[in-house]
Amino acid sequence: TDMDVWKRSDRYHNERLIGTPDASLIHSVENSVKSGLPNIALSEAQAKFLHLLARTFKAKRILEVGTLGGYSTIWLARALPEDGELITLEISETHAEVARQNLAHAGLDSKVKVIVGPAIESLPKIEPSFDLAFIDADKENNLEYFKEAKRLVRQGGIIIVDNVVCYGRVSDPEYKDEWTEGVRRMLDYIKGDKEVDATTIATVGDKGYDGFMYALRL
Ligand code: SAM
Repeated sequence: TDMDVWKRSDRYHNERLIGTPDASLIHSVENSVKSGLPNIALSEAQAKFLHLLARTFKAKRILEVGTLGGYSTIWLARALPEDGELITLEISETHAEVARQNLAHAGLDSKVKVIVGPAIESLPKIEPSFDLAFIDADKENNLEYFKEAKRLVRQGGIIIVDNVVCYGRVSDPEYKDEWTEGVRRMLDYIKGDKEVDATTIATVGDKGYDGFMYALRL
C-alpha cells in the first residue's frame, strides 16, 4: 500500500541518518505500548528534526504542550545544555507517569518538569522566557496554546505546532469537526498576526501525511 512506501522510506533514511535507537528510546516506546498509550508520538525523523533545531538554536529553555509518554520530550531534552530546562504539560496522570518513568530511564528527570493538568490552566502560571515551544496536544485549544506560547517565547525564538495538515483535511471544508476547526482557528488568527512570521512544512513518513507549522517570534 501507499503507507508501506512511506514506512520503507522513513526506514531507509533513518538507517543512514539516525541509526539504531539507544536503550532509553527503545524503553520509552516499549513502556508506552505496554502501558496502553496511543501510538501518536512523533516519528523518529520528526523528533530528530526538532532535536536538531533545538541544538541549532542553542535552546536553553523549551516548552512542550502534550507529553504523552515523553518520546518527543526525550529528543528535545537531549538537545539541552547541562543547565537547560524543559517544561512539558500533560492532562493525563497516566501519560505523565509513563513519561516520568521514561525520562528517568533516559537520565533526563533533573532537566524535565512534567506538569499534570489541562494545559489551558497550567500555561498562565508559567513564566517567560523560552527559546522554543512545541505544541502537540488537543487541537481544539491550539489558538489559546499558540497565544500563550507567544507570551512565553522570546523574540527570535520559535513556536512549532504539529498536525496542521492532517492528510490535507485542514484545507478541506468537508471536515467540520472541532479538531480540524481548532487548527483552522489558529491559522486564521496568524494571518493578521504581526508578532510572528510562519510557514507550514508538510511531511510524509511512517506516521502518514501531516505537517508542522513553524513560527518565528518577532
Ligand atoms: N508530543 C508527544 C510525542 O511526540 O511523543 C505526543 C503528544 S500526543 C499527540 C498529545 C497529548 O496531549 C496526549 O498525551 C494527551 O493526553 C495530551 N492532552 C490532550 N489534551 C490536553 C490538555 N487539555 N492539556 C494538556 N495535555 C493534553
